[in-house]
Amino acid sequence: AKHKGKSAYARFTPEMSEVSHERLQMESHMRKALELGEFELYFQPIVDTASGGLVAAEALLRWNNPAMGMVMPDRFIPLAEETGLIIPIGEWVVKEACQAAYCWQAMTGREISIAVNVSPRQFRDPGFTDAIMRALNDSNLRPELLELEITERLILDNSIETADILKQLDKVGIRLSVDDFGTGYSALSYLKSYPFDTLKIDKSFVQDVLKENEDASLVRAIINMAHSLGLKVVAEGVEEEDLTHFLKAEHCDYSQGYFYSRPLPEQDFIHWLETNERA
Ligand code: C2E
Ligand code: CA
Ligand code: CA
Ligand code: CA
Repeated sequence: AKHKGKSAYARFTPEMSEVSHERLQMESHMRKALELGEFELYFQPIVDTASGGLVAAEALLRWNNPAMGMVMPDRFIPLAEETGLIIPIGEWVVKEACQAAYCWQAMTGREISIAVNVSPRQFRDPGFTDAIMRALNDSNLRPELLELEITERLILDNSIETADILKQLDKVGIRLSVDDFGTGYSALSYLKSYPFDTLKIDKSFVQDVLKENEDASLVRAIINMAHSLGLKVVAEGVEEEDLTHFLKAEHCDYSQGYFYSRPLPEQDFIHWLETNERA
């Protein structure tokens, strides 16, 4: 805390100021991007492992900038979190995602859940639950069709507020999942005290299942543990058909990955959905 503010500039080297200049530029770009409508949602199918039928889609953010092209979230979300821009961006995401899911339901008569990523900064914003409720009300989407994906990183902080907010969301029927499960080095005890519905097994485990016995054992153990706690399981990063046989045999509820589909722009997702059997 001592080195905050102006004193920090004393230690800047030319490379550092270049980096910070780039960051400042990126930040002001991002601010404008929201106004200019440069953000887009892509949708990746989440299927029932046993039948291959669609059950949900995960909304994945893209920044389509005329100068930079398609910018992937790993390149701008960390900065959006640091600067707090993730709060208005995140509000836009959830609003857009709920509208899309309602629209698919109106079009096809099928209820398709929509999974939305929530970053820790966004979750801790005092206006977070209001923004979620507004998105649901404005879109008319049933709360049960909205799934919020939260990383273990957020749960780790273990505050009373975190527990309260999760309880509040659970109470209105919103589904809650643990994203990137297994990467957070957290104790597992939170699983029994927090109202989670789903575990998403991180792709780093899933992808090595066919190569490493240890990963197969881990994934099997996670599935069994989740089921005995009454949680559903999603395997992320499913790229190969052989993996789907393993996941079926192990009764993994849902699967997501390039084997089924890459994240798609909404029009392509609608097309995918029209040609996919229901679960
Ligand atoms: P995530 O939540 O773990 O999302 C899954 C990532 O895995 C996505 O990357 C997806 O495109 C990718 N993926 C899906 N299937 C496969 C596969 O079979 N193989 C491989 N190798 N990758 C696969 P993406 O879209 O680049 O997103 C990266 C991360 O950015 C997300 O990871 C999430 O943490 C974050 N993110 C994306 N959209 C949002 C958002 O709206 N809000 C927030 N806060 N974070 C977001
Ligand atoms: Ca996710
Ligand atoms: Ca719940
Ligand atoms: Ca994930």
